[in-house]
Amino acid sequence: MIKIKKVKIYHLEYPLKDFVIASFGLMKSRPALLIEIKDYNNNTGLGEIWSNFPADGASYKFNLFKNIFIDKLIDTNFNDPSDVYKIYKSIKTIFVQSADLGSYDSIISAINSAIWDLFAKNKQTPLNKFLNKKSSNEINTYASGINSNDAINTINKARESGFNAFKIKIGLNSNLDFKLINKIFKFKLPNEKIMLDVNQGWDRKYALIYLRKIKKYPIYWIEEPISALSSDREYLKLVNSSPANIALGENIYNEKTFDLFIKNKNLNFIQPDISKYGGISFPIKYMNTKYKNKVFLHFLGSGVGYISSAHVMSAINSNGLLETDFNKNPLRDLIFTEPIKVTDGKIKLNSTPGIGFNLSKNTLKKYLIKQFVK
Ligand SMILES: [Mg+2]
Repeated sequence: MIKIKKVKIYHLEYPLKDFVIASFGLMKSRPALLIEIKDYNNNTGLGEIWSNFPADGASYKFNLFKNIFIDKLIDTNFNDPSDVYKIYKSIKTIFVQSADLGSYDSIISAINSAIWDLFAKNKQTPLNKFLNKKSSNEINTYASGINSNDAINTINKARESGFNAFKIKIGLNSNLDFKLINKIFKFKLPNEKIMLDVNQGWDRKYALIYLRKIKKYPIYWIEEPISALSSDREYLKLVNSSPANIALGENIYNEKTFDLFIKNKNLNFIQPDISKYGGISFPIKYMNTKYKNKVFLHFLGSGVGYISSAHVMSAINSNGLLETDFNKNPLRDLIFTEPIKVTDGKIKLNSTPGIGFNLSKNTLKKYLIKQFVK
């Protein structure tokens, strides 16, 4: 059992010179919302609240965490990280009432991750080994966040830095980007993998036509081709008739739907995000099932969520690939006292307890918008 003594939240922001362009909009900065939860054994657990887009959402979630969640954490006992869901059951009603369950889900996810980190630290065990003794110590990654307008150049840079799997954002203005896809596959080396992320950009009417048109290319997966608000039936129909592997999951906020998709025999890639929905307790439910190899965590944020995701991936699906944003972001690479290094497309986890890294005071200071401690 652990008891919470102190809680801190940081709102950080890294302004971008080169904007990231997705089908849902322009990203002009990279925000991060980090929480630090200290227990009476003086261990500190770290968690990250989803705040990637839109950037203004970070201030709002900062206030929600500060004004609604912190008081319920202080002096609370945890027998298990999933106790988070019990403790915050009453608060959930506020978010149902305000039609804002998404903020609730992402804040709860971060608290759950931080409590897992705390439990692992109390056991003096690295988080991945605490979750699963058979976890690997390294995990393969793929380079993501590649803009379509500079795809070849960026793939080349990512290749030079050791990546051999690349995910390119397509589907802007609901286009197929046939010429670009053709160019990418000409440029691809035999040992490399190409994923395409449509970010829900295609019209449902044309999705299957587009998928058939690009059938000849060995696409490793094609991500979120249509709106995540499509009905389960409609989405599964597309998954079942698509000639290419479809990946989705970053926008599923319901356990039943997630379960339906992961158990579908034609879906081989499912992408939960530990900073968005269900924290760590949710995806590890599949750790000892035959579906574990389908779990390829989605992640776009700071180093805290990234390293936590690497631990969870190594525990659930050590042969999988972890999403690694290739855009410059010191809140990812330099957030800890030791820089995060991806070598030959692999990220190595250390044997220090918990997530194994400590926050860098310098980086926090440099990019701090605001902080609150209680
Ligand atoms: Mg995506």
